[in-house]
Amino acid sequence: MARYTGPACKLCRREGVKLFLKGDRCLTGKCAMERRPVAPGQHGAETKKPREYGMQLREKQKTKRYYGVLENQFKSYFEKADNQEGVTGENLLSLLERRLDNVVYRMGLASSRREARQLVLHAHFTLNGKKVNIPSLIVKVGDEIALKDNVKSLEKFAGLIENMQSHVAPAWLDLNKDKAAAKIVALPKREDIDFPFDEQLIVELYSK
Ligand code: SF4
Repeated sequence: MARYTGPACKLCRREGVKLFLKGDRCLTGKCAMERRPVAPGQHGAETKKPREYGMQLREKQKTKRYYGVLENQFKSYFEKADNQEGVTGENLLSLLERRLDNVVYRMGLASSRREARQLVLHAHFTLNGKKVNIPSLIVKVGDEIALKDNVKSLEKFAGLIENMQSHVAPAWLDLNKDKAAAKIVALPKREDIDFPFDEQLIVELYSK
């Protein structure tokens, strides 16, 4: 399935929640969810109470879009989470949080996950000292992610590094702001994820 290239704000309006897909713009009054917080389309403003299946589906779509993951990939994360010990929904969110593009975003080195994905694709980072360009790579405890030395002086990255200085990372990431690097010191826990997911609805959807 092809990656969605349409307007990002439409996805937020569809899900009825800010998914923070457009970086700094999401924090301004220009945000479409501030200006017109209704679903896109002619009947978008009509409110219908969703049925159980509809709620489960929307929760899956919301989570998928928040992390910028395609359908098949999302399903494979779910299967992996289901095969792990512990609570499936929490395992799923932990896996999604550990995607390399999300880690770069959580490090404060990108204003959105989309931007983080692009930076990783262009091989601007190293993982444990080696060049890496796979946004979907799942990092593990002990891994070290760093911005490559040869791009740090470029204007774009100087700005990102400056932004990083005031960034507060989640507890599972140990930031080294001087080196524009981070170490994974723990697995992300449910309480580390501050977005209002209802992951149990996704578990119910896939359990049908
Ligand atoms: Fe969503 Fe950001 Fe667009 Fe607002 S500006 S609707 S949060 S993508």
